[in-house]
Amino acid sequence: MPLVSMKEMLADARKRHYAVPMFDVSDTDMIRAAAEVAAQENSPVILGSLEPDISGESLDYWSAAARLAAAKAKVPVCIHLDHAVTIDQIRRVVAAGFTSVMLDASAEEFEVNVKRVAEVCAVVQKRGITVEAELGHVGDGIPGSGESAATGHADACDALTEPDKVVEFIERTGVDALAVAIGTAHGVYVSTPKLDIERLKIINRLSPAPLVLHGGSGTPEDQLRPAIANGICKINIFSELLNAWNASLLETLGSIKNLSSWPSVTRKKADASMREVMRGKIRLFGSKGRA
Ligand SMILES: [Zn+2]
Repeated sequence: MPLVSMKEMLADARKRHYAVPMFDVSDTDMIRAAAEVAAQENSPVILGSLEPDISGESLDYWSAAARLAAAKAKVPVCIHLDHAVTIDQIRRVVAAGFTSVMLDASAEEFEVNVKRVAEVCAVVQKRGITVEAELGHVGDGIPGSGESAATGHADACDALTEPDKVVEFIERTGVDALAVAIGTAHGVYVSTPKLDIERLKIINRLSPAPLVLHGGSGTPEDQLRPAIANGICKINIFSELLNAWNASLLETLGSIKNLSSWPSVTRKKADASMREVMRGKIRLFGSKGRA
């Protein structure tokens, strides 16, 4: 079906108390897996991209695959740029047909964050593009970027979202979706996170915009459920997909005797494991059957 705007998707999620999964998908296999599993589960899905996977001409291949997957899926699909840091990155993906972008200036001072997000909203919202921004800062590196992916060490910019800044931030920027820092982190956890659900409740009561949770991978189910019940409408998953994929691939490659094995054979189990993680998240987030 045609691409759907993230704004529209998240409005339904907020009204009906579930969260739409955003899977960061690096390549054609991941794009296809996310769209096909979402279709099997009758769930809306957001296909997220990160800069290392769409740099240079990779964007042409990535977006062609994502648009094809969306066209074939009989469920709502949104194509999103995760963690853009410059407006040029955003202009580039808008030209490639993305329907949603995140401008992440969360490590900046409040006033700088406001100014940069407002600028993006002014440029792209008139074209029907949804804008997500982050207030507070969900720490640590982007998996696979070479930055430290494990938490346990606060990065200097780590900060929980201050509820009293929420309304001002949304009013001054016009942002459509707000990523909040309530105790998750990017990458693989080295200790169990503890989400601040009381803070989330206050933010959700105040916020005119639907709320987003980054660092969903590895966050225990018994913490994600109350987060969804209290206003989280989109949850980002990446590291858990990579863990499932790489663990299976390692096992397969360790056991093959014939180094001329076809990629479609060696990747089969990895693909199946990754799909099971996606399916589990869709069910946990309550988005199954919501398409
Ligand atoms: Zn993130």
